Amino acid sequence: MTLTDTSRPHLLVVGAGLAGLTAANRALELGLRVSLLERFTDTGHVCASRTNGGVFHVGFRTVTADPKELFQVVRAANDHFGRPDVAQALADHAGRSVDWLRGLGTVFTAMQPDQGWKDTVLAPLGFHERTDMAWQGLGADRLITALEQRLVARGGELVRGARAKALLLQSGRVRGVRIERASGPAELFADAVLLADGGFEGNAEMVRRFITPHPENLLLRGCESGLGDGMRMAEAVGAKLIGMQAFYGHVLSADSLHREGLSPFPFLEFLATAGMIVDGSGTRFMDETLGGHIMSNTLARHGDGLGHVVFDQAMWEGIGQHFFCPPNPNLVRAGGTLHRADSIAELATLIKVPAAQLQAQVDAVNAEVSARASQQDRAQREGMTVFARGRYQHEAFAHAPYYAAPACAALTSTMGGIEIDGRSRVLDQQGEAIAGLYAAGSCTGGVEGGPAVGYIGGLIKALVFGLIGAEDFAASRGGDHVG
Ligand SMILES: Cc1cc2nc3c(=O)[nH]c(=O)nc-3n(C[C@H](O)[C@H](O)[C@H](O)COP(=O)(O)OP(=O)(O)OC[C@H]3O[C@@H](n4cnc5c(N)ncnc54)[C@H](O)[C@@H]3O)c2cc1C
Repeated sequence: MTLTDTSRPHLLVVGAGLAGLTAANRALELGLRVSLLERFTDTGHVCASRTNGGVFHVGFRTVTADPKELFQVVRAANDHFGRPDVAQALADHAGRSVDWLRGLGTVFTAMQPDQGWKDTVLAPLGFHERTDMAWQGLGADRLITALEQRLVARGGELVRGARAKALLLQSGRVRGVRIERASGPAELFADAVLLADGGFEGNAEMVRRFITPHPENLLLRGCESGLGDGMRMAEAVGAKLIGMQAFYGHVLSADSLHREGLSPFPFLEFLATAGMIVDGSGTRFMDETLGGHIMSNTLARHGDGLGHVVFDQAMWEGIGQHFFCPPNPNLVRAGGTLHRADSIAELATLIKVPAAQLQAQVDAVNAEVSARASQQDRAQREGMTVFARGRYQHEAFAHAPYYAAPACAALTSTMGGIEIDGRSRVLDQQGEAIAGLYAAGSCTGGVEGGPAVGYIGGLIKALVFGLIGAEDFAASRGGDHVG
């Protein structure tokens, strides 16, 4: 590609996922010349934005909720990690960003029961119905194709096979990108750059450095499109990276590490919240009631990153049938290992842990359950409320048969990355915006994650900050380009 001065784009966008395509399309609407660089060469390239469940939500609340409530949801989920202006921007713009997509002809539907967060789902559905990865022709795939087509139809440039490697600076301002293509390296110039190249799931070295010393036992539940290039490029010009350790994850069958058909579903974490998860010595290592996102993060970092989810018959028949494509009956149906025994001692033998140790963990869970029950009885008598520490509650191991399923953590998307402000501007170590540089989507940090591993929703994060970035840049140029 040769860019003459007259065809030189105002905005260079890196990455054709939801964040990049949103920014590029919005910038075009606002009268700007736009080039979008995508490292993959093929149309229909596989990226997180194409291979997902399509549920737009803000921390498991509908995007149409009052922004005041959404702000509280984001701050509470993250335990106040990250910048308040970023949480505010997400809350304020979630509804109108989805309306913007709707205005382009995007079709949303609801999943039943919507439970207050599944009312804005990309149609057609189908992703949540199978244990293996199904995405072709479904809502997210269609949305990305439609955004690509719209960009090109409106005169935007989509450059495939161009991998951004470094940012170019002129007089302290980001002015372009150095790329690698099959034909060799090239330098592309623009008035500003918006990084939207996804997370670092596909970069084993970064996963090892930031997430787990045992990446071989961490299942990649998504795809390898994100290599962390944008984070490294931004860091090289002074940007701050934030919350790199946290990832959006689930607990899956450990068989999924070696066998197809057990990812993206079923999740084992709900069974673990009722029962427990133990490591290779038969020992619990976390409060399971905190839920699946923190459980997967904790498991990935604990020991060799593998464990067993242990539960009883009542849990299998109860919470085992909860959520999308649940473990009961899909785990066994899809070929996942499920050990079954008439006693805890026998189960311990099957999973090769000391029987006394496993029994002690079961006793501890049962003691927690009965302590909670007597606390609740007393509180009821005294008219008080008992607040649970976690989102979920243990259940008592009541009777045989007992079960254990080998488990691993599964990485869907990384949640840390480049720190931005509420206008999608990339910030340096002092919190000052780096001139000419924006970022949106999974390459950014501080929106979700943090020590509490608060998952807010990757799609809404990509959409909102892609939109805001384009608008802020257009506004910064003055009225002549803003339509
Ligand atoms: C299985 C699964 C289910 C999910 N379900 C949901 C859900 O229901 N709801 C929800 O909110 N979120 C969900 N997510 C998360 C959501 O899909 C992502 O957070 C979101 O799509 C990220 O969008 P993005 O544009 O930031 O990144 P991506 O979609 O990863 O796009 C980045 C693009 O940049 C390209 N790229 C990478 N490096 C370079 C480079 N150096 N130069 C040029 N191009 C580059 C990549 O090839 C890719 O096309 C799910 C994710 C997965 C994997």
